[in-house]
Amino acid sequence: KYSSPAQAEFYQAVEEVLDSLGPILETNKIYQQQAIIQRIVEPERQIMFRVPWVDDKGEIQVNKGYRIEFNSALGPYKGGLRFHPSVNASIIKFLGFEQIFKNALTGLPIGGGKGGANFDPKGRSDGEIMRFCQSFMNELYRHIGPTTDVPAGDIGVGAREIGYMFGQYKRLTGRYEGVLTGKSLLWGGSLVRKEATGYGAVYFADFMLKDRGDSLQGKRCLVSGAGNVAIYAMKKLYQLGATPIACSDSSGTLYHDKGIDLALVRHLKEEQRSCLKEYLNAHPDALYTPRSDYPEDGHAVWRYAADAAFPCATQNELTGADAQSLLANGCKLVSEGANMPSTQEAVNAFIAAGIAYGPGKAANAGGVATSQLEMAQNASMQNWTFEQVDKQLQHIMRNIFVTANDTAKAFGQEGNLVLGANIAGFRRVADAMIEQGVV
Ligand code: NDP
Repeated sequence: KYSSPAQAEFYQAVEEVLDSLGPILETNKIYQQQAIIQRIVEPERQIMFRVPWVDDKGEIQVNKGYRIEFNSALGPYKGGLRFHPSVNASIIKFLGFEQIFKNALTGLPIGGGKGGANFDPKGRSDGEIMRFCQSFMNELYRHIGPTTDVPAGDIGVGAREIGYMFGQYKRLTGRYEGVLTGKSLLWGGSLVRKEATGYGAVYFADFMLKDRGDSLQGKRCLVSGAGNVAIYAMKKLYQLGATPIACSDSSGTLYHDKGIDLALVRHLKEEQRSCLKEYLNAHPDALYTPRSDYPEDGHAVWRYAADAAFPCATQNELTGADAQSLLANGCKLVSEGANMPSTQEAVNAFIAAGIAYGPGKAANAGGVATSQLEMAQNASMQNWTFEQVDKQLQHIMRNIFVTANDTAKAFGQEGNLVLGANIAGFRRVADAMIEQGVV
């Protein structure tokens, strides 16, 4: 066991993976002989840098920028950039570590990386966002490239921010190349990338349920978040006959018994960049719980009765007490759109209860997988149709489910997709590391 208050999230992510690897380390001594664990927990490279920029009042602001290039055994580093005031070295490191196994699970040639800044985009003007993104790229550009490290979006980084960063990269290097994914469809983006993580988490849920002789049809669902992942998870839920009845943002939780009005949520969050509370103006029959009224031991969104839960906001947003509440209310499925949204206590409760539980590194891999499809389109100067990309996304999500499920079975833990995903992801990376020597 490890303890380090300075890197709590990173140690949490490492412990979860290491706890699953016992059976494979036992049978495959080569991993110990080759010191794979000692090597895999150490990033190949971490970059921290100053991001100075000038706000609208003419005052100089300074943020901390990060890029972690964790593991390149399977391909160029790939992983998003997060702009949020909570970003620190531990959060970027945990996200980078998770990304290694997630990317391995997709079966695609991508290594693991992650980055971001402790910048808070809330309340900032478009000009301020642009100047921040340009300053961020003034340092990042020297570390990235289409065959070395290809960042994408994450919390606080969408098509607008990717656009400003791409523009600055092009200006600094003079090169028009696929160095970022999540780009606009006008200039190198891929259809389905925007939808991919949310759609993927719902496809994954559907595969888990079908394996149990059930389906999403008619299911009532709780979704946390109201950002990129949550919005497209809700869209796909409606398409597959399920009903999202709750969602949240950083200021509160919305519950609408007859189903969330998704067009309105998109308008409020994607266009107006405002707060979910404003939903009540159009739907006074909905309920809104401000964050200040959340239960002390968890999150209001998980306290409603539902068949399925889709955490799609941030890490550790679903506690042990939340898990107990979900289970007591009859929840039969949890599919994680976010990274590490469930605490270890919550994960243990889901596994002990034997419900269908899809951990983030498997269930939300659709985003990075589609980013790799964007890289493939950029490299071949092609644009694939929505149907082509969506079909590949479904195929990849199915493969991830089958791989994690079969691996869990092979190790005598049927249904434990945490163990299955960790072992399957680890094995692919570790075998590649061994073949590439001690580097
Ligand atoms: P967005 O910034 O688009 O949306 C994030 C949502 O979560 C927003 O509604 C935001 O609230 C809310 N939120 C963020 N931080 C907190 C917090 N600390 N407490 C409460 N609510 C919070 O991000 P994404 O949808 O892209 O990402 C969501 C999750 O999915 C993250 O865990 C990310 O790592 C993961 N993920 C994303 C992928 C992608 O392709 N985008 C790929 C794989 C995983 P508000 O609206 O008030 O800001």
